[in-house]
Amino acid sequence: MDTLKILLCSSEVTPFAKTGGLADVSAALPAQLNRQGLNCSVVMPLYREVRNMDLPLKPCTEVAVVTGAGISEARIFSYKTMYFISHPLFSDRTGLYSYAGQDYPDNLERFAFFSRACVELIRFLGDIQVVHCNDWQTALVLPYLKDAGLDHVASLFTIHNLAYQGIFDAILWSMLFLPHEFFHPDCMEFFGRINVMKAGIVFSDAVNTVSPTYAREIQTGEFGSGLDGLLRAVSHKLSGITNGIDDVIWDPATDPLIARNYSRHDMTGKQDCKRALLEEFSLPRDDGPVFGLISRLVEQKGIDCVLDAVPAMAGMGARIVVLGNGNPVFERRLKDLRQELPGHVGIHIGFDEAKAHAIEAGADFFLMPSRFEPCGLNQMISMRYGTIPIVTGVGGLRDTVRALGEGERPYGLRVASPNTPCLLDTVTQACRLSHDDPGLLLAMRLTAMEQDVSWDTPARQYAHIYRNCKILKERTR
Ligand code: ADP
Repeated sequence: MDTLKILLCSSEVTPFAKTGGLADVSAALPAQLNRQGLNCSVVMPLYREVRNMDLPLKPCTEVAVVTGAGISEARIFSYKTMYFISHPLFSDRTGLYSYAGQDYPDNLERFAFFSRACVELIRFLGDIQVVHCNDWQTALVLPYLKDAGLDHVASLFTIHNLAYQGIFDAILWSMLFLPHEFFHPDCMEFFGRINVMKAGIVFSDAVNTVSPTYAREIQTGEFGSGLDGLLRAVSHKLSGITNGIDDVIWDPATDPLIARNYSRHDMTGKQDCKRALLEEFSLPRDDGPVFGLISRLVEQKGIDCVLDAVPAMAGMGARIVVLGNGNPVFERRLKDLRQELPGHVGIHIGFDEAKAHAIEAGADFFLMPSRFEPCGLNQMISMRYGTIPIVTGVGGLRDTVRALGEGERPYGLRVASPNTPCLLDTVTQACRLSHDDPGLLLAMRLTAMEQDVSWDTPARQYAHIYRNCKILKERTR
């Protein structure tokens, strides 16, 4: 079989720039595909943070893009299997999409520019067979490819989170330099506005999302965010592939960022990690259960339910360690709770890779009562560290966690619904388990650590879709 040449377009890639799971996927999936014999490179913007890393970037090419302000040039650099598109729209500011909680007002212009530069990179490279676009920030690559007459390149569009569709005022349409007929309800129009994610769904050869359950859910009114009709209409090309995690970065046996390494064969290090975590967050070092939470602080993740549950959890003797940033109201309430419940609440507001590792290793349970969850990575990371995930039954949380009462060899706990009473019921169950049945709890930890959460199977599933898209393209040309 010939080597498939793929270009994955993403607005964030670990370790260069990250706000969430998309960055993990955009790094780990290509790495696994390349290990499996495919040829996958990745293109992302050269944000200021990336420029400041002083990587040994190699100049690759310069491309010219027509914009509202005339011709604008971008320089493209390469580094290992990465391409970086350099332009002041990305390097003249901090952050990826927003500043102080507010989206940058020119995000449409920024990611339209990036998408057009990706198309020019595809033209320059000449031998890309499949382009893989991810979320709205790179969805425009697909109509631009078509418009540039490069639609012999097969395409996959992945929805990592349907809640972020890239919706903009119609007045900005002319800035996109796309044919006017694309501004139509069957294409990129959405109730009189521009919907960039629709471009990815409409113009791609295949669409997938990041778990089978989420792929089904988004075709319903409850989870479809207004696009369920369109998604039902394209169901013949829509599938779900559960994400993996990078099992080298996230491995308690070798992780350099945790207090002491441990494995299924010797769990003693986990106790040391717990003690170190409590010390780091200035919490008392006793035996009671510790609940970790690492998240963007947004409603999707059920943060409001957790905040309302914290006083009762403290009453049960629990300690809660939270790492996250996002909604300033949630950040404020967390700080208040830390003051009101001394010795029970540890928080760090911000994005901190090392603390994320410390929490995954040191916590007994991990809280993830999401209202919806396309896949979720933290529950899988928790499993790898023998930390029991406490999860709702939506999206990838349903597909990846077998909870107590749901079959043989469980390794998680289910929250019946994303609300505070249901969360407290499950937390009560967790506290009981930790006091009354440490044997079962240990067995659950060990089973969690046995689960295959690697990218091996998912990468094979992606390779299968890429090949099918390529065959389909060849047949329809
Ligand atoms: P989402 O993509 O919706 O934010 P996921 O669970 O899919 O949620 O992925 C989140 C990723 O981001 C995980 O790798 C998680 O550890 C990481 N993460 C989220 N918030 C933080 C934070 N404040 N500090 C460090 N890592 C974080």
